[in-house]
Formats: sequence, C-alpha cells, structure tokens
Amino acid sequence: MKEKLEHLPKLAKDKHPENKKFFARLKKRTPKDLDRVMEELHEEEFQQTDCMTCANCCKTTGPLFTPTDIKRISKSFRMKPSALVDEYLQLDEDNDYILQSVPCTFLAADNSCLIYDIRPKACTEFPHTDRKKFQQISHLTLKNVAVCPAAFNIVEKMKERYAKI
Ligand code: SF4
Ligand code: SF4
Repeated sequence: MKEKLEHLPKLAKDKHPENKKFFARLKKRTPKDLDRVMEELHEEEFQQTDCMTCANCCKTTGPLFTPTDIKRISKSFRMKPSALVDEYLQLDEDNDYILQSVPCTFLAADNSCLIYDIRPKACTEFPHTDRKKFQQISHLTLKNVAVCPAAFNIVEKMKERYAKI
C-alpha cells in the first residue's frame, strides 16, 4: 500500500485530462444505470481495499465538520461546541470548519479512528463513490482520485464500463 500511495498523485495527475473529459461526457449523457453500477463498483473495490492499511484520507485531507458533527462530537467529549472548535478546528475559505492540521488529530498510530462511532458524516461517506447521482460530484472525485487508491480504481473501472458514452 505504501508504494501505491507514493505513486498515486503522479498517476492521478497523468489521468486527469482523460478523467475530466470522461466526467464531462458522463454529465451530458448520464447512463440510466449509473446509480446501480456505482454501488456495484464501490462494493467490489472495498471488498479488496483495506482502509486500515491506508488511512491516506485521514492523513492528508481530513473532513468538513458540519454543525451537527460539532454538536455530536463535543457532547461526547463533554465540551462546549465552541471549545471543540477552538481546540481542533478552523474555518476554510468557504467558511466551513476543517481540521487545524493533518494528519487528523483523531487518527491513532494503528490507523484506527479514535472517534469512529461519532466521526464526521463526511468521513463515513468518503470517497463518496456509492452516492446517488455520482456525476454531480465529479469536481470532488477528480481531486479524490489523487488521495484515495480505491476511488482511483473505481474511476478506472467506470471508464471501462462506460467506454461508449
Ligand atoms: S475523524 Fe476519524 S475517520 Fe475522520 S479523518 Fe479523523 S481519523 Fe479519519
Ligand atoms: S477511503 Fe480511500 S484514502 Fe481513505 S483509507 Fe480507504 S482507501 Fe484509503
């Protein structure tokens, strides 16, 4: 996995023009079975991918924290939401709360998440490859393929599956 992660940014950069064109076509001519196919490709990929040997998302990007996430996590920490924000979060350019630094503060040395049961919704959904209307988040996916080896593979398989769109 280590070697795979080292090569991923370059691989994703090389594929970027092709991926960008593919997603533009996908938006224009969205296949009727896209939701079902994405579920299938996501399932297939995550049967072979062990996130515990990776954790690259937690190490290099980190999630957005919604007000509901902040409320839930601070409650569990017996802290005020404002104290949680002061201690761990900052606002980004879009006024969303993000981590003050990466790797994520809540990532343990063995790649487990210290707040797994109450982690942000964005963490539970990353890399979003099984979400409905996947064509609508292509801008995000184009970035995620450089971070997540599973998302990279899923996009490669999508291009094979929909070679004719
Ligand atoms: S909260 Fe947990 S799952 Fe989310 S980025 Fe941090 S360590 Fe990873
Ligand atoms: S979701 Fe992707 S980047 Fe995150 S741990 Fe799993 S394979 Fe790695």
